[in-house]
Amino acid sequence: MERIPEDVVWVLGKLTDAGYEAWCVGGCVRDLLLGREPGDWDATTSALPEETLALFGEAAIPTGLQHGTVTVRTGIRHVEVTTYRTDGDYTDHRHPEGVTFTRSLEEDLRRRDFTINAMAMSAAGELRDPMNGRADMMAGCLRCVGDANKRFDEDALRILRGLRFASVLGFTIEEKTAAGMRENCGLLRSIAAERIRVEWDKLLCGVNAGEILRGYPDVFGVFLPEILPAIGFEQRSKYHCYDVWEHTIRSVESVPSDPVLRMVMLLHDIGKPESFSVDADGEGHFYGHPKCSAKQAEKVLARLRYDNESKRRILTLVELHDWPILATEKSVGRALRRLGEADLRRLLLVKRADNLAQASEYRGRQAELDEVEKVMESMLQREACFSLKHLAVNGRDLMCLGYSGAAIGEMLEGMLSGVIDGELENDREKLLVFAGKEKAKNLKIGIDK
Ligand code: ATP
Ligand code: MG
Repeated sequence: MERIPEDVVWVLGKLTDAGYEAWCVGGCVRDLLLGREPGDWDATTSALPEETLALFGEAAIPTGLQHGTVTVRTGIRHVEVTTYRTDGDYTDHRHPEGVTFTRSLEEDLRRRDFTINAMAMSAAGELRDPMNGRADMMAGCLRCVGDANKRFDEDALRILRGLRFASVLGFTIEEKTAAGMRENCGLLRSIAAERIRVEWDKLLCGVNAGEILRGYPDVFGVFLPEILPAIGFEQRSKYHCYDVWEHTIRSVESVPSDPVLRMVMLLHDIGKPESFSVDADGEGHFYGHPKCSAKQAEKVLARLRYDNESKRRILTLVELHDWPILATEKSVGRALRRLGEADLRRLLLVKRADNLAQASEYRGRQAELDEVEKVMESMLQREACFSLKHLAVNGRDLMCLGYSGAAIGEMLEGMLSGVIDGELENDREKLLVFAGKEKAKNLKIGIDK
């Protein structure tokens, strides 16, 4: 088992030396016992916020005094030190009306969301676990502290936190907890999109994301109604053995665990139901679906407040997921020009995942993608020309030949296309001759007119 870091031990020790109780609590204890690296270290104490503030002086920041939270800077990290508390009534499904400080650790643990998050550990490694979180943890079981329905009604974000823990830790969800999630999922409407998105990204990247998506589509449908038509939508296509939703889930599982890539897979076929048609032979088609998917994806990403960079990337990859790329320098060069190296690498991962989620007879596409990758690697290695910065001539050269204004850009882009398509050589002299001739041709046309 990992140990509590020295600087966190220092925080706990300073409190206990002053006569207070102090424990690591919540996620960090859970992760410590699971042998995972804790994301952040939280402490809980019998000291009142003012007492903690006074004790740590300069090192303390009063970040959330009304909730009892003081942030202590250790020089290595920030540790949130929160006074033992119980929460008042919840009236808005988000926040307690008020909090009451208490001198009882057990009361503090009782207000926490899941049993695996309701354990405390002292600096010496003593565990306090009145909710039996450790036993649940060993059994891989996610269970609410207390009555599930009540806990989710108090704070609906707990529903998504719970699904996130189950996805990330690969836990199964205890029956009453699962039922409570389903029953109360409508309350997620009252939760801020930013908070939903944080949980959603982590959930999508979990080892068990597929199973959770499969098990709780109605919950996700509350903030992602776009997924609902995909569920059970038969594709009637030889390429596919799954309905649109199951294909989507499998493609999410097949892409590396990265929030952008996982979101691309989730959204890539979301426009399929609306672009569905059946031909005379009874075969299903989805003409133009990448564009429809991108359109719907745009709404989803705006609703969940994705940042502009992620948005741009996700939309580009959704829109281009079916773009054919062949294992030729011409085709790969065009793709590199359109996307750049980083996004082309992502697109190839998207294509692999999309294909892995198709009917098994068609998964041979993986070998084709291997070839595309080889071509790409070789082009990158020898710094092949696929953008204007690789072109052996630049705008200034063209000005010297008499080009001006928009004609400069047009000519450069035209020459780049010629080089990528293998019609021109990326050689300074040859390109200058070419551009000079084109200029003369245009002049002549001008005179002839
Ligand atoms: P992470 O790995 O994301 O940090 P975490 O469980 O540590 O997960 P935090 O948001 O850091 O999550 O919260 C720390 C602890 O506070 C939790 O483990 C839990 O005990 C308690 N907690 C957090 N959010 C809630 C909530 N909405 N309702 C009840 N208890 C909560
Ligand atoms: Mg935490």
